[in-house]
Amino acid sequence: MTTTFAEPWPDGVIARYLTVAGATVDLTRRGEHADYRCTGCGYAGHRWVERVAREHAQGHAEKCRALPRP
Ligand SMILES: [Zn+2]
Repeated sequence: MTTTFAEPWPDGVIARYLTVAGATVDLTRRGEHADYRCTGCGYAGHRWVERVAREHAQGHAEKCRALPRP
């Protein structure tokens, strides 16, 4: 098991959800809105209200089985 939690987060990342496969879905703030992107499969969403972006990111993290890119 890698220590994803201990690694420094990329700039701008305000929340990070661990997927079942060990990738992460990163939430970044952009002005009034938030974007999210899965580091496993590339699934992403842009310009969501932060609350909604968090729900989407968490929901995706619960079912994404794509492995993180090395
Ligand atoms: Zn994914």
